[in-house]
Amino acid sequence: MKLIISLAGLILAVTAIAPAGPPSSPAPQLQPQPLTIQKIRGNVYFAMGGAGANCGFVVGDKDVLVIDSKMTADSSRQMLAEIGKITPLPVRTLALTHSDADHVNGLGAFPAGLKIYGHARTKKDMEEAFGKDAALKPLLAYLPNEIVADTLEFKLGADTVRLLYFGPAHTSGDMVVYLPAEKTAFVGDLLFVGRDPLIHRQKGGNSFGLVKNLKGLLALDADTYLSGHAAPLKKADIETLVKSIEEKQAKVQTLLKEGKSFDEIKKAFGITDQPGPGGMRWPSLVEVIFQELTEKK
Ligand SMILES: [Zn+2]
Repeated sequence: MKLIISLAGLILAVTAIAPAGPPSSPAPQLQPQPLTIQKIRGNVYFAMGGAGANCGFVVGDKDVLVIDSKMTADSSRQMLAEIGKITPLPVRTLALTHSDADHVNGLGAFPAGLKIYGHARTKKDMEEAFGKDAALKPLLAYLPNEIVADTLEFKLGADTVRLLYFGPAHTSGDMVVYLPAEKTAFVGDLLFVGRDPLIHRQKGGNSFGLVKNLKGLLALDADTYLSGHAAPLKKADIETLVKSIEEKQAKVQTLLKEGKSFDEIKKAFGITDQPGPGGMRWPSLVEVIFQELTEKK
């Protein structure tokens, strides 16, 4: 399967928070891909491309649930127009997979007064990001108002929507939107392909937590996983990712036991301090693992 990564969205998303570090990723596509809508199964649709991350929606019998916004109001409006071509039903509910800009900064296109599901940490991080930027302040009206602590289930027409929280991973507010009847899960940024996963330590993200989350995804009765930055994925893609993270964790652990320094460990993995596109650098997964294993508790 050909996998597409919306790097433009990713890069924009991390601008505000990125410490220098080499993106272990291919050259970025600075032009966003056009927005495309793909019917996954039943009432579940996946919206790839546009500005920011992939998102999606589920059509009920009275209203529509949208999972994440685009990164801009314009791009979200475009998605809403596409929803309008599929159903005349109104969007009444949003579920936010996490707080990153490429998933929430386009919320202003949605009508006011929606029910918005999200984790408490997502709410906190959105509140912080929107509160300190005059241009984003109006988005404070779109903070999660239905907080998901662990598991929460609701009906959308004949569909059951199950919201799941497996603990800190990409951030510490990652929420999975699982549709058991469609064997499909929207997983936000828990799944990356073709590059190492991104862990936002400043938002409480954690690589060991990510492995736990991925194993939680594997345990679901699902066969389709919809990520913010990839084409639809399968269990085998998750298994590959788990293996690669666990291998890196084990290798860093071994090198630390051998008394190797941070620089020696980076060298062992071929990590350089070369800045990425636009002079930015994300901490590599290995650097994150090193920090996790050496931080004072
Ligand atoms: Zn993200």
